[in-house]
Amino acid sequence: MSTDRTGAATVVLSPPPTPNGPLHLGHLAGPYLAADLAVRAANRRGDRVLALCGLDDHQNYVLAQARREGLPVDELRERNAELIRGVFKRAGIAHDGFTEPLVDAGYRAAVVEFLEELVLSGALPVEEWHTPVCPNCPGILHHAYVTGDCPQCGAVSSGGTCEGCAGYTPASALGRPHCTRCGSPATARRTVRGPVLRLEDHRAALEEAWLNAGLAPRVRRIAAQLLRQPLPVVPFSYPTDWGIELPSIPGHRVDVWGEMGLGYLYTIGQRLAPGTRGMAGHLDAWRDVDAVWAFLGLDNAFYYLALFPALFAAAGLPARVLGGLVVNEFYRLEGAKFSTSRRHAVWAHEFLDEEDPRLVRAFLSWDRPAPQPANFTLERYRALTGAWTGGSAAAAPDEAELARAEAALSLEQFDAALAARCLLGGGLPAAGAPAGGAATAAGELLDVLTGGAAEVPR
Ligand SMILES: [Zn+2]
Ligand SMILES: [Zn+2]
Repeated sequence: MSTDRTGAATVVLSPPPTPNGPLHLGHLAGPYLAADLAVRAANRRGDRVLALCGLDDHQNYVLAQARREGLPVDELRERNAELIRGVFKRAGIAHDGFTEPLVDAGYRAAVVEFLEELVLSGALPVEEWHTPVCPNCPGILHHAYVTGDCPQCGAVSSGGTCEGCAGYTPASALGRPHCTRCGSPATARRTVRGPVLRLEDHRAALEEAWLNAGLAPRVRRIAAQLLRQPLPVVPFSYPTDWGIELPSIPGHRVDVWGEMGLGYLYTIGQRLAPGTRGMAGHLDAWRDVDAVWAFLGLDNAFYYLALFPALFAAAGLPARVLGGLVVNEFYRLEGAKFSTSRRHAVWAHEFLDEEDPRLVRAFLSWDRPAPQPANFTLERYRALTGAWTGGSAAAAPDEAELARAEAALSLEQFDAALAARCLLGGGLPAAGAPAGGAATAAGELLDVLTGGAAEVPR
């Protein structure tokens, strides 16, 4: 147990990708590259940082996609997991911890153990709740299994959160909920009894956390909207066919976002105190957490802004652990939203196979869809990267520009697009040429952007 905070670590999370498909450039330009830039910049400053990511194996989008493709789910999951891991490796995006729930028995056991301990302590009370269900299909409608109208903005949403307005949209909140497995309207209703997290019970902790955290104006509006009404009650288990089984309630599995929050208690605890056991041991290890920062698209904001901080408060952690959220808007491709399901995407693994990863990183930093949305076109990619490597660069950044870039790579003021504009004035060495200059501040900061001069494995 530490008594001083000199070794305190900043935890940087990027949401684990769901292995229902490969990553596209929108994913890379959103949380994943940005988190890596911030982590590299923090390491350069000598800060203690833990970068955590993984795979979101237990989203039922994985099983739904396997059904759609007529493939065994393990085969589909492994195919996409391999592509996702390959993209991170080729793009030079490294993590201190990469959790794969499907193949990590220790993680799965800890999630169940912590959940049951929180039920026993009363932090996750066992209650009845009601939900629309499909008259034909088993289990309840949740996440990939349901579609309907968002109650706040009217956009078509699946169960979870709305991509249009970031509102919380369980099946019970959706207008005209439909089953995506058979297409039927969800005309039946079901009463479920299981553990829930009552966010309203943690209103004061959330208000304190939000007051002190680094949050973009867009995220503050989501927080304000949540506070205007009673905060939701979020089920932590229910009858379904995908996810971690909960032995104490036959047929129930752990809600995947509840799992992720409990999983963070475990993985962060293990990183800070390897081998620690029990929830008390993990919470004690969290005393070394200075702050948790998360990089994410706005559609995940509810979970990182409200669900996880409320769960952490329920577990007894102080509100100060929420450092902030670094959010991005949508990245568009030739004017339309990147879409895995509509196959309107540039796949990150294919693009990185063809292109110099240093240029891809520099361009996606320049073009990062935050704080404004951005639009990818191959034409702009060719024009800009050609100018950076073509020897036509105007002038290397001066001290003031380097200082601006450094600030723009900090968690509190993160703005990759600004950092890229400050740093790329002098251009980049051509592919294969020695990077040089890495010993200078300008060279080091360029290396943060490009991933450095090291040989990138193919
Ligand atoms: Zn909405
Ligand atoms: Zn159905």
